[in-house]
Amino acid sequence: MTVHPAFETAGIARPVQTKLFIGGDFVDAIDGGTIDVYNPFNNETICQIAEAREADVDRAVEAAKAAFPTWSRMDASDRGHLLLKLADAIEARAEEFIRLEALDAGHPVRDAQKLDVPRTARCYRYFGGMADKVEGFLPPVYPGFINYVQREALGVVGQIIPWNFALMFTAWKMAPALAAGNTIVIKPSEITPLSILRIAELMKEVGFPDGVVNVVPGYGHTAGARLAEHPEVKKIAFTGSTATGRRIVQASSGNLKKVQLELGGKGPNIIFDDANIAAAIGGSAWAIFHNQGQACIAGSRVIVHEKVAEEFIDKFSKLAKSIRLGDPLDPNTEMGPLTSRLHQERVLEYAKIAVEEGGEIITGGKVPDDPQLAKGCFVEPTIVRAEMKHRVCQEEVFGPFVTVTTFSDEEEALAMANSVIYGLGSGLWTQNLSRAHRFAREINAGMVWINSYKVVHPASPFGGVGESGYGREMGFEAMHEYTQPKSVWVNVDAQVPPHYVR
Ligand code: NAD
Repeated sequence: MTVHPAFETAGIARPVQTKLFIGGDFVDAIDGGTIDVYNPFNNETICQIAEAREADVDRAVEAAKAAFPTWSRMDASDRGHLLLKLADAIEARAEEFIRLEALDAGHPVRDAQKLDVPRTARCYRYFGGMADKVEGFLPPVYPGFINYVQREALGVVGQIIPWNFALMFTAWKMAPALAAGNTIVIKPSEITPLSILRIAELMKEVGFPDGVVNVVPGYGHTAGARLAEHPEVKKIAFTGSTATGRRIVQASSGNLKKVQLELGGKGPNIIFDDANIAAAIGGSAWAIFHNQGQACIAGSRVIVHEKVAEEFIDKFSKLAKSIRLGDPLDPNTEMGPLTSRLHQERVLEYAKIAVEEGGEIITGGKVPDDPQLAKGCFVEPTIVRAEMKHRVCQEEVFGPFVTVTTFSDEEEALAMANSVIYGLGSGLWTQNLSRAHRFAREINAGMVWINSYKVVHPASPFGGVGESGYGREMGFEAMHEYTQPKSVWVNVDAQVPPHYVR
């Protein structure tokens, strides 16, 4: 446990767990390694956590394997009840989670309060309610036979989480997996491990059996790679970059484990000339600037009709310039720092690339002038006029960085929208109902928002197509992802002639 003054200053009164969570206990890493955790607002080290390596992952998998028979055969409504209790416990400690996400990840408290924490609790509650509603079916087969199909848990599931929504993504992955009866080894990002360790504490408190969930913060190339290749892990669910996703697929081939991938995105956000421009401006700003643009579904490519382009760009950039950057712990802050220094540098590099390629920076593209923000990983909200062939329109920047490109007709807009390797989130703004549905059908994306952007709910499947990955989180789809069908044949009174008559 750590009691660094930063936690107290942030209003987090209790010490934060820093050890690995294995078999129901908080334990040191086998070789005693540690990882520094930073506050991205000032880049100060706020604590050191134990670093899980391969041998720690192995013992976490052992613990999860030992817990699986009991957990998977438990009355499903009891499993659900534990998830409901966890949701209540998170809500009861909402303020602590809001502040942890601000300190560890740079999420403004106003966002975490409105979104991360309520969405996390809602997700555990939704899947808590679903645990005892996973039904099989009875296909009509040959007379004299009964065939029933039941859905069974997979076993030990490995889950790997990125740093951009550490708390919420943990819920998206763990809630359906647990409801379905799997046990878990979860590896948070080495950059944002704190809220997950706190969730582990709460799980113990509300009564999850030992070993059902094991938390192994560590680096990707050691702990993550071992989890992905582990022969006893039956499925790996990964959220992160497309490049790492490819490595996960390769590592999974040893035991042909099931793989679910939630990868990068380059969301098109199309504004037609009949759009409600005020709504489109507000929605487009939300689509890209929320969480400093560190969202896989971000609307990072505005594609706007040439007739309304100048009005849109003018008002959109005024709004971008007015966004209040500041300490994530300040309730007035609308945009915090990026989550790490390395990532800040990467985003700023794209501003240079944009100009080199002939793009024009309309606003932003640099660190803010405010000396109070000088130590933090800030980047100003950035809008760049660019062509679809430019790298900034093709590659995921993952920051407060949006390109604007104009179009003259529907065909051109659709071609632009579908011109990237990704297919995750997408948005369109129009009053024309048939055009809206036509585009929803034609866009290569797992999710389409019409006259809104970035709305998510645990009942609605979340995931992508193309190089944004495969498989879906949330909704009933998620229960299918975390179970497998078993077909059972019963001969009631079928007359089966012998095959080999002697
Ligand atoms: P990342 O791929 O670098 O890391 C993600 C996780 O994978 C981390 O926990 C990391 O430690 C681990 N990892 C790294 N190398 C590994 C390896 N060889 N084997 C196993 N695990 C390994 O991604 P990031 O920078 O943490 O997150 C940003 C990326 O995540 C962006 O591309 C973003 O679009 C994507 N993302 C996707 C979704 C989605 O739902 N599709 C959601 C959020 C973020």
